[in-house]
Amino acid sequence: MSSENYYIKTNRAFTSVRRYAWLFTLVVAIGGLWEPKLGLLVLLVMAGLMGTAFFTGRFWCGNVCPHGSLFDVILQPLSTNKKIPGFLKSKPMMIGFFIFFMFNFGRRILGAFQAWGTYSFLDRLGFVFVFTYLVVMILGGVMAIFANPRTWCQFCPMGSIQKISYALGKTTGVTEKTDQLVTISNPDMCHKCGKCARVCPFQLEPYLEFNENHQFDNANCIRCATCVENCPAGILSIENPATAMELKEEPLPAGYMNRRHIVATIESIKELDEDLREYTFRFEEPAEVRYEAGQFMLVKVTENPEAYRAYSISSFDEDHRHVTMIIKKVETGYGTGIIFDEFQEGVQVELEGPMGDVLVPKAGTEHMIFVANGIGITPFIPLVKEALENRDEVKSVKLITGQRYAKDLLYHDYFEEMAQKDQRFDYQAIVSREDAAGLPRGHVTKLLKEMDATGYKAYLCGTKVMVVDAHRILTENGLNSENFFFESEEKISELPSVGQKLTA
Ligand SMILES: Cc1cc2nc3c(=O)[nH]c(=O)nc-3n(C[C@H](O)[C@H](O)[C@H](O)COP(=O)(O)OP(=O)(O)OC[C@H]3O[C@@H](n4cnc5c(N)ncnc54)[C@H](O)[C@@H]3O)c2cc1C
Ligand code: SF4
Ligand code: SF4
Repeated sequence: MSSENYYIKTNRAFTSVRRYAWLFTLVVAIGGLWEPKLGLLVLLVMAGLMGTAFFTGRFWCGNVCPHGSLFDVILQPLSTNKKIPGFLKSKPMMIGFFIFFMFNFGRRILGAFQAWGTYSFLDRLGFVFVFTYLVVMILGGVMAIFANPRTWCQFCPMGSIQKISYALGKTTGVTEKTDQLVTISNPDMCHKCGKCARVCPFQLEPYLEFNENHQFDNANCIRCATCVENCPAGILSIENPATAMELKEEPLPAGYMNRRHIVATIESIKELDEDLREYTFRFEEPAEVRYEAGQFMLVKVTENPEAYRAYSISSFDEDHRHVTMIIKKVETGYGTGIIFDEFQEGVQVELEGPMGDVLVPKAGTEHMIFVANGIGITPFIPLVKEALENRDEVKSVKLITGQRYAKDLLYHDYFEEMAQKDQRFDYQAIVSREDAAGLPRGHVTKLLKEMDATGYKAYLCGTKVMVVDAHRILTENGLNSENFFFESEEKISELPSVGQKLTA
């Protein structure tokens, strides 16, 4: 596996402690050169990390550690963010370095105790910690920049001490009640996109290692929640074992019941633009698969590690033998790089699905607003057809779509033709970066402002900014918040109380 474009730099400082704890490192490592007694503060750090580790493993490393904060907040932006070399993660390295460190540290402590009872004792003792803090700052800092921000942490002796304390906690049974582990609410909803692994500071692979209780029980996990914050399916959380068991009992949403592994052949590839292609897959094994408009499928991009990418289904299920997806190449994108380079007509690929039901309108829905920007238009291609042709109860369907340029308006003629044929369908397109003939200029929100949304159900797919703004405007214009459904690749924590959501 190439690490190029694989590991993703992302925010890891979700609390003030994590954002500013690095200041403590500077105070001790630099300030201690003038006032060595500052080093004695490290005794509190050691007590803290050993104590918390007994109950919940390396929590300290991910949530409190001042050096960890320095690596994540200050040095991550400068880091080359490479794959951490395997030998630095190995047991011999960890044990060997632990012995080396403890020997030298012990020697210095004993040296300081030679001044026991004298005026300079506390200064000499404090300086042992100051020196250690400074060395870790420099060595760990260099590794953070030239390898990965958390390279040092792989063999940090304080991490090893925590693992010993954690093992004691496990042996005594204490952790069964107190441990907090990354938990997946429902593995059948996982996109297998590997994003949890790509953002993990320790380059762990939770999505490949959940145990039978749906928990990631790995002693190296620092409980930093970076994977939780970045999972596009919104199915990860950090929970104790009892809550994990409760989550495990929750029923699987209907849209995931028919998920299956599919072998398919690429039947055709249509070049829609230089960075946009429409792929039609023919099902081989099984030969027939039924799906609904508004669902998505997973496309396998790599075998090792097993990784897929999610794409909205852009075809209407005519014969149960084909599925179409429109894929936009992301600059430096890991998965689309592989798809655009290696996926040719006639090639056999693996799919999983169909999945999802957030964008599938419930039976009986009479008035629908579909809102999309960018590549978010794709699920609405079959959804409009399905609503108008297969649902007798539907009284009105509005499709509002926005792109930067008129040439990017996907299926524009198709939607215009449909609007002419069916009075119930209202199609409005808008472009933001040019004055195009016959089209208003601006974003979809401009069109939503002019709309009475009372009595509608709204289904959205697109960027976070669009979804958040549209929610505000539509609810101001009469939409009940419970009737707002969206899919977005980005996490949208601003909308905690809206209806169903898949990609939180
Ligand atoms: C339900 C669902 C439906 C979807 N439907 C469609 C669809 O119909 N069509 C479509 O084209 N896409 C769709 N997507 C998006 C698709 O799944 C992929 O995310 C997309 O194709 C990009 O994949 P990638 O591996 O090329 O990009 P990635 O490498 O995963 O990059 C994605 C983004 O992550 C960030 N990133 C990546 N690497 C780094 C780095 N090293 N440092 C910092 N940031 C980084 C960038 O912001 C980049 O834009 C959908 C997603 C979901 C969840
Ligand atoms: S959907 Fe979430 S849990 Fe599954 S692989 Fe992607 S990030 Fe990991
Ligand atoms: S698995 Fe998740 S919580 Fe554990 S270290 Fe990796 S990103 Fe942090």
